[in-house]
Amino acid sequence: MTRPVLDHHIDGAPWQGAGPATQEVVDPATGEVIAYARRGTAEDVDRAVAAARRAGADWGRRTPKDRADVLLAVAAAVEEHAAELVDLESRNAGKPLGLAADDVAGTADTFRFMAGAVRAQTALAAGEYVEGRTSTIVREPVGVVGAITPWNYPLLMAAWKLGPILAAGNTCVLKPSEQTPLSTLRLAELVAGLLPAGVLNVVTGDGAVVGAAIASHPGIDLVSVTGSVRSGQAVAAAAAATLKRVHLELGGKAPVLVFADADLDAVADGVLFAGFGNSGQDCGAACRVLVDAAVHDDLVARLVKRIEAMPVGAPSEGEHIEMGPLVSREHRDRVVAALERAFADGATAAVGGKAPDGPGFFVEPTLLVDIPDGAACTTEEIFGPVVTVETFTDEDAAVVAANATPYGLSASVWTENARRAASLPGRLDFGTVWVNDHLAFATEMPWGGVKSSGYGRDLSAYALNDYSRTKHVMVKHQA
Ligand code: NAD
Repeated sequence: MTRPVLDHHIDGAPWQGAGPATQEVVDPATGEVIAYARRGTAEDVDRAVAAARRAGADWGRRTPKDRADVLLAVAAAVEEHAAELVDLESRNAGKPLGLAADDVAGTADTFRFMAGAVRAQTALAAGEYVEGRTSTIVREPVGVVGAITPWNYPLLMAAWKLGPILAAGNTCVLKPSEQTPLSTLRLAELVAGLLPAGVLNVVTGDGAVVGAAIASHPGIDLVSVTGSVRSGQAVAAAAAATLKRVHLELGGKAPVLVFADADLDAVADGVLFAGFGNSGQDCGAACRVLVDAAVHDDLVARLVKRIEAMPVGAPSEGEHIEMGPLVSREHRDRVVAALERAFADGATAAVGGKAPDGPGFFVEPTLLVDIPDGAACTTEEIFGPVVTVETFTDEDAAVVAANATPYGLSASVWTENARRAASLPGRLDFGTVWVNDHLAFATEMPWGGVKSSGYGRDLSAYALNDYSRTKHVMVKHQA
């Protein structure tokens, strides 16, 4: 079978690239090559930036309604091609079909929400704040935005960036993860007749080449990255040279605080979904359970039962598969190394604990218990189907332990106690705190981190603010 070679998408058309190199795109459930993508160069980024700058002159001056109409058409195109996008995303990222379908639905909803939100923006009232002078706030696009996306939610993360970036009147140069470019390239193709040429440009390739060129490019005004802390640091450092704005959605290590009064079945269901969904490759994954010692054994027993019953396999086997492979051989090996380190530190596996034999990049869903205080598996992001369980004996200690991580993306509290449910979110240093839930998203609500998880917000009207700039216009009308 010949595999397609997929081109960049620049100025509304395919572009083969300034260099001849390509890279393999692999189905992680089988390890087979399913396509090749261009390995872009700094010259390809130059070409994309030039196209984006040209397109910005018109796109940025359109009315919010005009841009919104286009984004609504983009959402409709995504829905019309949902089945194809689900198949691509599932094959390239190893996602169970139901999860891939949720991602595609979330993609359409993001474009639709941003189309509405940009027509309903609010700001300080225009008025005479200084006598004889009228002040107004104008919201303007930032210009050309560079967007760099990860492999765990390739299409959805592209939409979380493109929705507010384009709604706010910017144009974009987007680099998908080298492992998962398929759905983003297909999206660019699908909307090529809807967006004016140059508004969305996609350049595929390595982070160290294409990503670095975007971060340092003088023609890019803001760079937005979703990825690891290391990539975020590299981008922020490179962006400093041109003082471009930076928007960073980085890693996480979400604590799940379980009090003795919690509904333990709800906790176990929640951890199964939010800890092992997408094979744990989720920046908000419910990966670190901190449970009241009094209910530790009970919770572990419920979790083990559910984990053992979870259907794991290639997503192509059918809709019943709840957990697929990890995204790549390298990542599978990283997760296995993290497990070996946890065992060397003294942890034991209540269930799972290794990579099974056979094709594809699978790791067994794993629950780690008996973990010594401060072990790396409780503080470092593993980004695989691995959930750790630690205990606490009082509320204050639980809060201290939950905050004892360099990350600050998300956390959850499980309790039936109203005082705790109301007071604990304020004591937890994370961008999102759920109570009796984990990994539930609303397009209307902001998502983003504090501490090493980065800064800037996705989703909601806050993302529109992040991708625009304010201008104060003051008119003196008193002689
Ligand atoms: P990664 O950092 O390896 O790659 C992310 C993107 O950055 C890729 O497109 C990559 O090519 C690019 N990149 C890498 N080095 C770069 C450099 N020096 N300059 C510019 N670009 C560079 O991350 P990943 O492995 O694809 O994704 C997993 C990580 O993403 C995890 O840490 C996860 O927590 C995080 N993530 C965060 C969120 C969030 O909303 N906060 C969402 C999804 C994933």
